[in-house]
Amino acid sequence: MQLKRFFIKDLGLELSKTYELKQEDYNYIVNVMRLRLNDTLSIANNTGYDFLCQIVSITKNGITIKVLEKEENLSESKVNVTVCQALVKGDKFEFITQKIVELGVNTLIPFTSTFTIVKDNTQKTERLNKIAEQASSQCGRSKTLNITEIVSIKDLPKLLNSYDLVLLAYEKANFSLQTVLKNSKNCKNIAIIVGSEGGFSESEVTYLEKELKNLKTVSLGLRILRSETASIVLTSAVMYEMGELS
Ligand code: SAM
Repeated sequence: MQLKRFFIKDLGLELSKTYELKQEDYNYIVNVMRLRLNDTLSIANNTGYDFLCQIVSITKNGITIKVLEKEENLSESKVNVTVCQALVKGDKFEFITQKIVELGVNTLIPFTSTFTIVKDNTQKTERLNKIAEQASSQCGRSKTLNITEIVSIKDLPKLLNSYDLVLLAYEKANFSLQTVLKNSKNCKNIAIIVGSEGGFSESEVTYLEKELKNLKTVSLGLRILRSETASIVLTSAVMYEMGELS
């Protein structure tokens, strides 16, 4: 049977020690994934390591595991990529969250702007974090996505000023994405900004261009992509150029 992977973000783990897990982890491991006494499982805890553990006790109230092995996880991206995604309708934000975890993104900054229809999705925060953790487990990552609080587009410059490169996906952009990425091979911290269904106002684009010295507005071609497509395409292009898809 394939080793089942679990993500338990706040669990500090040390070799040979035993740990009693929380009720919610118990429910997932025992009731949902149906693991039993003496079964082994792999736990990632956001530290960059995977921990091979064994279930040493299961009672009505809890589950205890013992750490058997600790191994460095090599699947994390070598470039630090942040996605700034305008809030979008329905379950598209969840879809974007899941896909960018698979692509190796470290941080997601949700933001509102003039044309965002959704102005708040804080009620989804817990669900988004769960989706990110499950995506991390499923794709073999040892870290999960850091989802920040929702900010206004006006706050992006101060959050992104230290990045080597910030790519703003904008339909009317003059820069070719291909050229920008070819000249950015040495960048280690890259952020991308993608608008909502309504896109950006011209004054928002001017504001970001003025405030962010490392910003390049890039076109993703002559067709208008849906916001979720644009996020995934741009993230994939960045990861491809940085050698993360090879
Ligand atoms: N309402 C906008 C319009 O009609 O011009 C379209 C917004 S589009 C659905 C959502 C977001 O995806 C845009 O704000 C932009 O960030 C990105 N996007 C979509 N197509 C793009 C393209 N061809 N080039 C650059 N960015 C694009």
